[in-house]
This record gives sequence, structure tokens and C-alpha cells, in this order.
Amino acid sequence: MTRVYNFSAGPAALPEPVLQQAAAEMLDWQGSGMSVMEMSHRGKHFMGIHAEAQALLRELLGVPSHYKTLFMQGGGLAENAIVPMNMLRGKASADFIETGTWSSKSIAEARRYGGVNVAASAKASGFTTVPPRDSWQLDPNAAYVHICSNETIGGVEFPFTPDVGNVPLVADMSSSILSQRVDVSRYGLIFGGAQKNIGPAGLTLVVVREDLIGHALPCTPSAFDYKTVADNDSMYNTPPTYGIYIAGLVFKWIKAQGGVAAMEARNAAKAALLYGYLDSTGFYNAKVDKACRSRMNVTFFLHDERLNDAFLKGADERGLVQLKGHRVVGGMRASLYNAMPLEGVQALVDYMKAFEAQHG
Ligand code: PMP
Repeated sequence: MTRVYNFSAGPAALPEPVLQQAAAEMLDWQGSGMSVMEMSHRGKHFMGIHAEAQALLRELLGVPSHYKTLFMQGGGLAENAIVPMNMLRGKASADFIETGTWSSKSIAEARRYGGVNVAASAKASGFTTVPPRDSWQLDPNAAYVHICSNETIGGVEFPFTPDVGNVPLVADMSSSILSQRVDVSRYGLIFGGAQKNIGPAGLTLVVVREDLIGHALPCTPSAFDYKTVADNDSMYNTPPTYGIYIAGLVFKWIKAQGGVAAMEARNAAKAALLYGYLDSTGFYNAKVDKACRSRMNVTFFLHDERLNDAFLKGADERGLVQLKGHRVVGGMRASLYNAMPLEGVQALVDYMKAFEAQHG
């Protein structure tokens, strides 16, 4: 068996010990005589798996007691609708900060449920930066302020947690959750799909302040009303049981590595290695504003784009896969989520140097 270094933006690489444990427990989970996939979500085995995953998530993220953690389905894009449905709370509109493809999609979807005020946009820069906080035109009566903490496609990360006064801050953390420490109390709501830092696609995480729950629009599907989900401990409908099990194993793995602070330090070292090399050569270039460079998704370009195919082919041959940039941006993208080891980034940089020596 040969495992590659998988730089996919998501679904993405998972920690090998997690996959090994899941494989070992596939047919018989801890003497239960069945796979986790075969268990009733209301049976004692799965209830235990669920409770443990919830507790570990709260511990790792440092979730205050007046917040609920919800395990839902639908992914980040469904939350683009579910958030306004639940969070408008009788108000006319919400504020959005547009920093790339994902926040643009959030804006378009929210327009279907209420008013939208784009309080700041980095569109004119080609989405290579985060507009400085003092340029935002916030509405003091907004229901909430939406940001995308890390734009997975452009590779743009918020270098600060914005102060938005008493208006709840909502963050799409699909591609950064658990990769760095976050002060949850600064947010009204955090959401993210699991398929990057947490586990398989199909599980969506929501962390929401309790007082914001219970105000959903009447048209909100019951399974997407945060109150219904919270009151039923994320078991109103059948939850994505296997995804929750794998997420629980990933949470244990993160904890054993030293928790989110250790992930943050490791991710900073990985990003510094790759950006450091990119900054040292004219053969490649990175276009994102240095202050807003994503530690999770490093976007870069070959100076001579005619070499793109050769670059990708050579990388593939060395077991460095999924480096092609998203079609919206082009170029290359290396996603360095928690499960990507430093050795993987070193192997990529070694290859990039060799490719430069050959073609530069
Ligand atoms: N937001 C961000 C930041 C993302 O990276 C993605 C997926 N790449 C989404 C939202 C959409 O998530 P999903 O495909 O799970 O709906």
C-alpha cells in the first residue's frame, strides 16, 4: 500500500491513525458485534459515541457553557440558507464581508430570505485581501455580520477577529475550524462542513450562542431549525452517524497531539515553510496579500503558466496529488489541513525546487 501526500481542498486527508482505527473497528466496534454504520442512532453504543464527540469538540474549541454545539447535515452551502432563516430574528437585513467565492455564495443565498448589506468587499483586489475593519460600512441594526474566516478557493484568511459591537458575528469556518485557536465568545455563531479538518463529508458543525436560538422564520424546515436540533440533542432526525464517529476519532487524535494550540503551531510551521520558499524565488509567485495569507490553502502560480501541466504531472509521479488550483483562480493550491504532516510540505517544497532547477 502506498499513501500519497494529498493536498486536496476537501474532502481532504485524514490522520492515518484515525483511518487505521476505523478500519480495525469496521466489522465489530468494541465488542458490539457490529459496525458503527449499522448501529441505531438511539442505541447505547452510538449515544456514547455521540456524547463523547460532542464533549471533545467543546473541550478542543473551548466552547462556553451558554453555547450549543449542533451536529447537522447539509454542509456549508445549506448553512448559507439555514443561518439567515434562523438568525434574522425579525430584523430586515444582515451585513456581509465579501472576501471570495464562499462569502459571495453566502451573500447570494441570504438574499432569498432577507435583506443583504455588503458592508465591505475585496472584489476589486481580485479577492486577494481582507478589507480593513475601519473600511466596513456596518449597519447597527443588522441581524448579524457574516464573514468567511478562510476562503478556501482564494487562499485568503482573516488575520483578525473583527469587533462588531453588539451585533452577532457569524463565521463560516468550513476550512479553518480546529486549525487554530478561536475565542468562541467573540462569535454569535460558527459553522463548518467536516470534510477538511474534521472528518468525512456529510457532517456539519454549528456552534451557536443560546440566546440566538428559537427565532427561526416560520418557513424553516424543522430539521434545520436550530431550536429543534438543540432541543433534541442533534437527534431530531437521524444524524450522520458514521461521520460523527470519525469526527470523534479525529478529535481524540487532535487532543493527543496537544490540542488546537499544537495544531496551530504545526500549521504555522507548515505554512511558513511553503510561503518562505515561494517568497524566495521568482519562478513561482503567491498573489494574496501577505497579511491575509491562508495557512490552510496556499494558492500560488508558476511564473510561466505553460509549465502548469508538466508541474502537476511531475508532482503526481512523486505522490504529491490534488495540487491543481480551483478553476475560479487557476494556478496551484496546496491545502495544508491538520492531517498534512510537515514532511508532506517538505516533500512538496523539495519537488518545487527540483522543478525550478530543471525549468528555471
Ligand atoms: N464554505 C467554505 C469556506 C468552503 O470551503 C466550502 C467547501 N469547500 C463551503 C462553504 C461549501 O461547503 P459544502 O460543499 O459542504 O456545502
